[in-house]
Amino acid sequence: MEEKKFFVDDLYHNYFKVYEKKGRGKKILIISGIHGDEYTSIYVNEKLKDDLDKINSDFNITILPIANMGAFLYRSRCSPYGGEDLNRIFPGDPNGSLSERLANQIFNIAMENDLVIDLHSCGFLCRPYILLNFKEKGDVKLKMDIVHIVKSKGRKGQLMTELIKNGVESFIIEVPSGFGGYIQIDHANNIYNALKNFLEEKETKTRHVYLDPIVKVRAEEFGLFLPNEEALKVNYTKGNNIIGIFNKSMIITEDVPMAMHFPSYVFKGEILYEYAKII
Ligand SMILES: [Zn+2]
Repeated sequence: MEEKKFFVDDLYHNYFKVYEKKGRGKKILIISGIHGDEYTSIYVNEKLKDDLDKINSDFNITILPIANMGAFLYRSRCSPYGGEDLNRIFPGDPNGSLSERLANQIFNIAMENDLVIDLHSCGFLCRPYILLNFKEKGDVKLKMDIVHIVKSKGRKGQLMTELIKNGVESFIIEVPSGFGGYIQIDHANNIYNALKNFLEEKETKTRHVYLDPIVKVRAEEFGLFLPNEEALKVNYTKGNNIIGIFNKSMIITEDVPMAMHFPSYVFKGEILYEYAKII
């Protein structure tokens, strides 16, 4: 394993490290920490980096665990230097702001790969899933031990979107995290194993559930929300899925519950839960 350090601007904590393990196969980059507070995905990638020499893979692997060091140290989604969301400004600009220069350096490294896997966090109460740009589910060749694959065109400025535009394959894995850098260890271990098996090209028995883009449902009034967290643990769900209790009424969805607000008094307009329809 070889370690390289890249400085964007050494006046601030704006550097990142990449770890490389040479192989003869496809060149794969696994990146995390584009959003600085998504610690579960950073933890997964750090663990992969630590075990990189033990992973039995033909792929040419690069690991970039903390893409946005300033945001990581600040435990925030966005950069403390200018407040930009790094995942909205790719491919960046070599003559731009600190974050745009960071985006540009990362983008140039990412473009050298055949596949880029970008690890993120879906929030505190959510199920892990893959965000993949596909038209028909029959076209999907991806095999990974993560059940739910959500259709996504991505957004302008996201690393995934801009890479695909430029002919590099890319998808996102969303892993539950939490406030202040909370790491959800069980989810982390599952995603670590899924990625390790993927890199080692192990057979997978996972039967994927393909979903349309996620829909967010907002509270129509102020009130007490008590979620039914169990609904996030069921793999294949269709029919009456209980989301939780809001102002003493039960909320039910026909579709797959993807994320929920934690137990709280929720204000009008806040996101109560997210669901996706099975394709
Ligand atoms: Zn993110």
